[in-house]
Amino acid sequence: MKPAPFDYYAPETLEQAVALLEKLENEDVDAKIIAGGQSLMPMLNLRMARPDALVDLGKIKTLDYIRQENGTIVIGAMTSKRAAEDSTLLRDRQPLLHAATGHIGHRQIRNQGTVGGSFAHADPAAEYGAVAQALGMEMVVVGPDGERIIPADEFYLSFLTTDIDATEVLTEVRAPIMPDNTGWAFQEVCRRKGDLAMAGTAVTLRLEAGSCAEVVIAVFGVNATAARLPEAEQVVNGQAPGEAIFAQAGEAAAAALDEPIADVHATADYRRSLIATLVKRCLAEAVERCA
Ligand SMILES: Cc1cc2nc3c(=O)[nH]c(=O)nc-3n(C[C@H](O)[C@H](O)[C@H](O)COP(=O)(O)OP(=O)(O)OC[C@H]3O[C@@H](n4cnc5c(N)ncnc54)[C@H](O)[C@@H]3O)c2cc1C
Repeated sequence: MKPAPFDYYAPETLEQAVALLEKLENEDVDAKIIAGGQSLMPMLNLRMARPDALVDLGKIKTLDYIRQENGTIVIGAMTSKRAAEDSTLLRDRQPLLHAATGHIGHRQIRNQGTVGGSFAHADPAAEYGAVAQALGMEMVVVGPDGERIIPADEFYLSFLTTDIDATEVLTEVRAPIMPDNTGWAFQEVCRRKGDLAMAGTAVTLRLEAGSCAEVVIAVFGVNATAARLPEAEQVVNGQAPGEAIFAQAGEAAAAALDEPIADVHATADYRRSLIATLVKRCLAEAVERCA
């Protein structure tokens, strides 16, 4: 199928894009931002989305960067996922975000798809959702009233829905650099490499005097939005690392899932079982990295 007709705009600056989005909103025109088009184009072609207008951010080159600012890695929204995958800065200073990037789709998709687009699209099975929760990332949006910074736990509202307003552009994502001695792990299960995950887990933790501390466990692909699971984190916090305690945390994570997604790819029970296993494995891997 082909998309329903739409008007097309290609602003050259962020200011132009925001002014245009505000104008279209005031005129009651249903406008949608397009970045890499890797999620939106299929939705347009399948007519799952029928906006009146597309605002293409492709010409706004000022939103394409990866840099370190003090203790944070900042990534412009129009940076391609390929650039993130190839970034030695990201690999060395924010390895969890870097590792998750390599799991997103196929190389062709990472060439074209943007980092900002992946956060903004808010697919429940998107790797970045769990990374955002695990790292306590921040999203920067710019609209007619200026800049807003949205913490990850307020950014994702529901299935394919974020706190970005119709007149706002996501301009940057910020990931704090993990303190020294932090272990991390990222694992997912897909039917085939490059598919969206049926379930996945991101973990960070530290070892203090032989015990696990500051344990963070985030899961994705199982509910409408990625989320941390404090019930599972509590099982491990303050405990000596070991297979039995990790298995217990996995069971706690599975039990904490509220009605996991059931679809053609996996039943709810299978997703629960995947989370129990992935949490257990990620905890063990994260502890190894601490060492
Ligand atoms: C075969 C296939 C496999 C895939 N596998 C995965 C996978 O495993 N994991 C995964 O996470 N994704 C996967 N994707 C999706 C892919 O990662 C997309 O690139 C990504 O979801 C969207 O990025 P984009 O730049 O292409 O955004 P677009 O498709 O252009 O836009 C997506 C949505 O985000 C909004 N948007 C984009 N940029 C901004 C912005 N700066 N400000 C505000 N709103 C914005 C758009 O309005 C739209 O609603 C896959 C896609 C395909 C086709």
